[in-house]
Amino acid sequence: MIPADHPRYSSLVTREHLVESARKGLVAWEGLIAHGRGEAFDYLLGERTTKSALIAEKTAAALLLTASHPVISVNGNTAALAAPEISHLQKACGACVEVNLFHRTEKRVEMIEGLLRDTGVEVHTGEAERLLPLSHDRSWCRRDGMFSADVVLVPLEDGDRCEALIAMGKTVIAIDLNPLSRTARSATLTIVDEISRALPQITKACSEISDAEKDRLIRSVDNCYLLSEAIREMTMRFPNAMD
Ligand code: ATP
Ligand code: MG
Repeated sequence: MIPADHPRYSSLVTREHLVESARKGLVAWEGLIAHGRGEAFDYLLGERTTKSALIAEKTAAALLLTASHPVISVNGNTAALAAPEISHLQKACGACVEVNLFHRTEKRVEMIEGLLRDTGVEVHTGEAERLLPLSHDRSWCRRDGMFSADVVLVPLEDGDRCEALIAMGKTVIAIDLNPLSRTARSATLTIVDEISRALPQITKACSEISDAEKDRLIRSVDNCYLLSEAIREMTMRFPNAMD
């Protein structure tokens, strides 16, 4: 039982929820380690959406809205942390939602698809094939889904798969709290923000941005700038860290 007045209440509730999801088999045990890495970077950020993350979130909305076949890739952590937010974003941008797992079993795929459907997501299913140029199980996807997407949103992604999607010529939008990860550095656009803060901002921007702003944001995508701003926002907090 976590006391509601604990200063780290929401972080502890999220951890408990992930542990419970891992016990059920929805989240991989390794996913708990990935979450811990994310938490560490979020601490450095001050657990807030920075100015540069907000620019990245608006740009993500512009890319998703102008894509001809946008796809949102969902893994166990993403489903456990943000299934309703995925549903809202799908309604706002019309993207196809497809499950893609590193620690893949048919049972986990079905469990995650079930959770997504229960929160209102229209899940893209059908026969998966080993179509991405990767030696592990994240190569599985659908020919008419992720394989033929022009824009792919990959929250909490692994670097290998991000690089493979880029090599296939796709526009890749990553959500990753670690601005130094291979994913963050190889994506077309990286949102350095916590997933449950990032997705609602993208959804909000989908209904707010004008056509002119979409064009301007897409023309000015500069991932190096966004990553260096994220690092600057983290490090500039250091001198005052003990205040
Ligand atoms: P890479 O393979 O890209 O070099 P990695 O191997 O360090 O990265 P992975 O386990 O492949 O990391 O991917 C998980 C990533 O997701 C980590 O970089 C972590 O910072 C990030 N992450 C974890 N939880 C969250 C969260 N809730 N919101 C946003 N990012 C998160
Ligand atoms: Mg990795």
